[in-house]
Amino acid sequence: MDTIKYTLPEERMPTAWYNIQADLPEPLPPVLHPGTHQPIGPADLAPLFPMELIKQEVSTERYIEIPEEVQQVYRQWRCTPLFRAHRLERMLDTPAHIYYKYEGVSPAGSHKPNTAVPQAYYNKQEGVRKLATETGAGQWGSSLAMACAFFGLECDVYMVRVSYDQKPYRRALMEAFGARVTASPSPMTQSGRAVLAEHPDSSGSLGIAISEAVEVAATSGGTIKYALGSVLNHVLMHQTIIGEEALLQLEMAGEYPDIIVGCTGGGSNFAGIVLPFLAAKWRGDRNTRIIAVEPAACPSLTKGPLAYDYGDTAKLTPLVKMNTLGHDFVPPGFHAGGLRYHGMASIVSHLKHLDAIEARAEPQLRCFEAGLMFARAEGIIPAPEANHAVRGAIDEALRCKAEGKGQTILFNLCGHGHFDMQAYIDYQAGKLQDYEYPQEEIAMALAGLPNIG
Ligand SMILES: *Cc1c(COP(=O)(O)O)cnc(C)c1O
Repeated sequence: MDTIKYTLPEERMPTAWYNIQADLPEPLPPVLHPGTHQPIGPADLAPLFPMELIKQEVSTERYIEIPEEVQQVYRQWRCTPLFRAHRLERMLDTPAHIYYKYEGVSPAGSHKPNTAVPQAYYNKQEGVRKLATETGAGQWGSSLAMACAFFGLECDVYMVRVSYDQKPYRRALMEAFGARVTASPSPMTQSGRAVLAEHPDSSGSLGIAISEAVEVAATSGGTIKYALGSVLNHVLMHQTIIGEEALLQLEMAGEYPDIIVGCTGGGSNFAGIVLPFLAAKWRGDRNTRIIAVEPAACPSLTKGPLAYDYGDTAKLTPLVKMNTLGHDFVPPGFHAGGLRYHGMASIVSHLKHLDAIEARAEPQLRCFEAGLMFARAEGIIPAPEANHAVRGAIDEALRCKAEGKGQTILFNLCGHGHFDMQAYIDYQAGKLQDYEYPQEEIAMALAGLPNIG
């Protein structure tokens, strides 16, 4: 009988996160103060984050212990299964071996609780009363709302207007966990009011919602802190539990990946599965190809320049060197809501710059097509974001077929699409269109970037 899934017992769950900063051949470029353009220190971030997370953000320790209380929560759904996609392989008639790590088994349905839980924990430890955050499609907001409920924190979520209107079920989930959800741009903050004054009908963007949440935290006098669901170094580190588990599970399968594929919005689920394998590659003999797949409509990694930029629209955040489409970027209303951020994690941008990873952009119709193929073969409806990883894995499997190569492909199925069925309805009704982010827009984004000497 073919083995279908590789499961690790709770006792074998990794008890440390992997920190790539210990092994980078060149360190990350410094993060700069938005006013002075000088490298920032821990004190600059203290109004926004608890000290433990600030330390993790800049740590060069290779492994960081996962606190006992966080492990306890993780164990509700971890270790997550690694599946061998036998039926998909047969459907594609490929000699490739396809494996996927399934993060959709978390209570919120994606990888996001892997970082929401430790973020809530460290904030609670440091006496914070409330967390403010933004959410696009609602996956991050619902994960943080859940984590806040576990640790007795209040949770204030600024939800991008277009999703707030289109995704009532994600909003209901956040409210069920006890969070307060506000459509962004909102009249509650200066940043929101500034946008509304110019564009009363603004559909919002992650960049605007981040400005609102950051403003709420920064002006709270310390009782409210801010939480971000992707992009930051500590967030990517929390996600490495995915790859650490996958290493052990593939060992059970007696295989090692020739290719690893992940989708990239801000870069966290991609980094989570990839970084532990990249460490193994840098240590020695493994030659794994690592592929990031992003939406053609928001192509930060493939088309955005590597430059210093703000993390938000109102320019409240520090300046980070990253592949960016510009902090003013307002994406078209296509459906992979979680992949609509203007920038890419500094770590992922840096790895691209070092040629340690490949990147490609895919239009959404090809991604939905791949997602439905996957669903019919494997029975899991992927989140629209995850369809980009499915597309990348299927394309690699088809290349293997054409070349007659039995390579091993691993991809991250970072979430299920049960709250995204409207997107599938629209796709099946032929209502979705491809959209390529125009070159002129990219040029305009470039023009709006801060001038760092
Ligand atoms: C948030 C989200 C993403 C995008 O964020 P990353 O930080 O790039 O992982 C992708 N897929 C799902 C299912 C998400 O919830």
